[in-house]
Amino acid sequence: MTARERELATGLARTWERIDRACAAAGRTRSEITLVVVTKTWPVDDIRRLVDLGVADVGENRAQELIAKRADLGPGSGLRWHFIGGLQTNKARAVGEAADLVQSVDRPELVDPLGRGAQRAGVIRDCLVQVSLDPREPDGDLGPGSGRSGVLPSHAVDLARTIETDGRLRVAGVMGVAPLGGDAAAAFAALAGVGAEVRSAFPGARIVSAGMSGDLEEAVAAGATHLRVGSAILGGRAALG
Ligand SMILES: *Cc1c(COP(=O)(O)O)cnc(C)c1O
Repeated sequence: MTARERELATGLARTWERIDRACAAAGRTRSEITLVVVTKTWPVDDIRRLVDLGVADVGENRAQELIAKRADLGPGSGLRWHFIGGLQTNKARAVGEAADLVQSVDRPELVDPLGRGAQRAGVIRDCLVQVSLDPREPDGDLGPGSGRSGVLPSHAVDLARTIETDGRLRVAGVMGVAPLGGDAAAAFAALAGVGAEVRSAFPGARIVSAGMSGDLEEAVAAGATHLRVGSAILGGRAALG
């Protein structure tokens, strides 16, 4: 093993230990959890090392980066590619074509281009509704420290319906990012509630994607099915934004 292989193996093992402890505390099992390793900014060689360590799901937040890495690794990798980043309308078609699960659908304008991408790929593409978990003032305005993407919780079912109505996409659940410096447990409980609403309208929408390196325990406790973990496995990213 090279030093980098050892580093990734250790990060992965420690992350699964954390997941196992959180599952035990919540009366859940590891088999309920999909770990998406967030490989944004890291080279394809790291993704190859992760595949050798048994990783099956990777997350990227930029369209070009996902497409280039996916092409580099080729179809034989067997990886599932998750798009987790802010989605520009003019990149949505490419993402709908290349990502196996588009986790960050946060407005109706994305639905048609995503659908066209899915059609090019010849699949019905799974999508998650990204829900804003930022604290809000009583008047509904965003509170301080907000500004992350996501649809308002009260609009999540409407967006899910728009996704399903397209015919080329399928709503598979919800995704959220806890507010910076905020109460992750409360945010993920709110996300679980929105997820249950979406699921009661669309029973196949079972995914709740929540939790990153710093708050995966809170996400497991709140019932997350998917965790998106980068730096705890790959190390700190250069400040690329
Ligand atoms: C970068 C990113 C992650 C991973 O964050 P870490 O703190 O490195 O685990 C998860 N989700 C989203 C949406 C991200 O952009």
